[in-house]
Amino acid sequence: MTAYVTTNPATGKTERTFPELDDAAVSDVLGRVTDAYPGWRATPAADRAQILVRVAEAYEARSDELAALIATEMGKPVKEAAGEVALAASIYRWYAEHGPDLLTRETLDPQGAQESVVQTEPIGPLVGVMPWNFPYYQVARFVAPNLLVGNTIVLKHAPICAASAEVMDEIFHTAGVPDDVYVNVYATNEQIADMIADPRIQGISLTGSERAGASVAETAGRNLKKAVLELGGSDAFIVLDDADVARTAKVAARARLMNGGQACNSPKRMIVPTDKVEEFVSVLVSTFEATEHGDPTDSGTRLGPLSSVAARDGVAEQVRRAVEQGATLHTGGEVPDGDGAFLRPAVLTGVTKDMDAYSEEIFGPVAVVYGVDSVDEAVTLANDVSYGLSGSVWSGDIERAQEIADRLEVGMAYVNEHGTTLPGLPFGGVKRSGFGRELGRWGMGEFVNTRLRRTA
Ligand code: NDP
Repeated sequence: MTAYVTTNPATGKTERTFPELDDAAVSDVLGRVTDAYPGWRATPAADRAQILVRVAEAYEARSDELAALIATEMGKPVKEAAGEVALAASIYRWYAEHGPDLLTRETLDPQGAQESVVQTEPIGPLVGVMPWNFPYYQVARFVAPNLLVGNTIVLKHAPICAASAEVMDEIFHTAGVPDDVYVNVYATNEQIADMIADPRIQGISLTGSERAGASVAETAGRNLKKAVLELGGSDAFIVLDDADVARTAKVAARARLMNGGQACNSPKRMIVPTDKVEEFVSVLVSTFEATEHGDPTDSGTRLGPLSSVAARDGVAEQVRRAVEQGATLHTGGEVPDGDGAFLRPAVLTGVTKDMDAYSEEIFGPVAVVYGVDSVDEAVTLANDVSYGLSGSVWSGDIERAQEIADRLEVGMAYVNEHGTTLPGLPFGGVKRSGFGRELGRWGMGEFVNTRLRRTA
């Protein structure tokens, strides 16, 4: 647990310090979201939807300001940050448009009775714990469906995103979310554990590391609370022998550098036919080397700093260790001179099963390229990690690629694209990438009471 202090990762300058939640206030927060719940669930869904539309409008109207804020907070280049703001807005709109229909009463085959109906209902106050890599989008995935369904929310954001957490809180309340229906807290992990254990809280959703996920899931399990976890990933990007190597390598390079490589579903492992590795690596290297890093608030910047110096040092250390253990570094991995949490993007080959880089998630601008001699070898390698978030297969032969995609042990398999996220599509993983789903109708099915009423 770090303090709620925002630091510009491009300069190292501390921006603001935020007051942390007092232990004595924890119960008061829980009391507020509990007392607000009956009124919120009784509010017509159409009214809740209208509030979400106003949230979306505020994101769109304030896009430049919101993008600049996370650029200085966690280093995302403003052009990408504006894309994230638009994506978050689209999620609030999607739930405003489709959410009320997903709540309507469903009449089942009565099976010997007069009537059997199922109604989707809220379950009560929830806790959300969010990470710094997509400050607006991660919150939207949790908040939009749950506000629409009628749940109330305590939200703990990552400490380095305290300022964007503050602005989101203001946006929600200005749009009409009652003060006690959404409460932003600058809480410690211990306070979050106490909240999860409290009988007033009905569920917890966390996006972040395995360590954080295991910790909250343990508390949730002990207290019989539902948990949704969206954790790490080490996605495979599988190139088949018929694919256009230069073009797919360019796509892979760009995808890997998005958000400085700090995405759970970034293509971290590229799996390429052995005889194509040299060409693939050369395109990756030239694209990485041509991508200058710079000030994330500058609209021309394509690669910003990592989220913090500590995060950058961790990734640089993973690269250094891979080389020490025998991998080949083709470019990057070094820390450039000057201030800020910058790291030159790296390409590694020759990573073998006995090396840490084979199984660890690398949360930064590092591509690991593997050569394989068959499709079976590619699939085995792709599945040989503890994660199972997403993966992609690239080929001109769609049917063949789809068959291979179906063999990936993931929550999201793509053909000729990687990591597309849309409000109506499910998002989530299997294995140690977590459990539960966000977005679409699935995201509205997690923290609900699917209530049966049967009349004999
Ligand atoms: P964390 O998982 O530590 O942080 C994510 C959020 O979880 C933060 O709000 C954090 O708060 C909170 N958290 C952490 N531990 C607990 C706990 N025991 N109880 C309650 N809340 C907790 O991620 P880091 O920022 O440390 O990043 C480390 C690694 O996590 C990355 O390298 C990456 O592998 C993974 N990660 C994955 C993400 C994803 O999108 N799936 C997003 C971010 C990180 P606090 O900082 O106060 O502890």
